[in-house]
Amino acid sequence: MLITPKILPELIQAIITDIEANAEVVTELDRILGDGDHVINLQRGLNAVAAKVADLSELEWSTAWQQIGMLLMSTMGGASGSLFGTFFLALSKVNNNNTVTQAAFAQAFMQAVTKVKQRGKAEAGEKTMLDVLIPVAEHLQHNSQANISLTNTLIQVITVAETGVESTREMLATKGRASYLGERSLGRLDAGAKTSQLIINTIATTLQAHIT
Ligand code: ADP
Ligand code: MG
Repeated sequence: MLITPKILPELIQAIITDIEANAEVVTELDRILGDGDHVINLQRGLNAVAAKVADLSELEWSTAWQQIGMLLMSTMGGASGSLFGTFFLALSKVNNNNTVTQAAFAQAFMQAVTKVKQRGKAEAGEKTMLDVLIPVAEHLQHNSQANISLTNTLIQVITVAETGVESTREMLATKGRASYLGERSLGRLDAGAKTSQLIINTIATTLQAHIT
């Protein structure tokens, strides 16, 4: 089954709804560990994408991802704005040819995560969004090499992202604003890891409904 950018209006709406439903909890995380603006930054970016989504849905994936990256970069603000923007700009370098295979997507996703690591000068284990994005990238790559079906991959990725965000709870923040807190950053989830997990969960759930 071919997934085209025609799915974008439904996907963006589902993500907006899900972030709204979790806004208070995530804002509280960023209020304690950062400055409390992460959800507002993200919502500003999502609304900018939503405003253009009819046009985006007419494009090919690589161009759509490029435009989403530029929109997030120019509207979101915060550390997360430049990092999410970087992610989608790098994703747009996917080997396109009109259809994006699972293997090409997995490779592009891994490259996008590598760009985010470079941009933020961060690695796994520093209590950031990377603690969700890195394990998901590795899982996608593993599954594409092992020829695991899209249906099973979507189910697994939901769990991998949940494990990833949970892993940030006992991590010491060494990057971003939370790093100023030192040991006091322990015991709570990272806000950017939480929104990354929510977005991945919503995308995987929406895609599941389309392929079954
Ligand atoms: P800001 O920290 O500038 O207020 P946001 O609140 O929007 O920006 O985003 C904070 C989130 O960004 C953090 O929860 C973390 O997941 C992520 N983050 C911050 N710095 C980095 C970094 N260097 N590398 C990866 N992710 C980071
Ligand atoms: Mg913040």
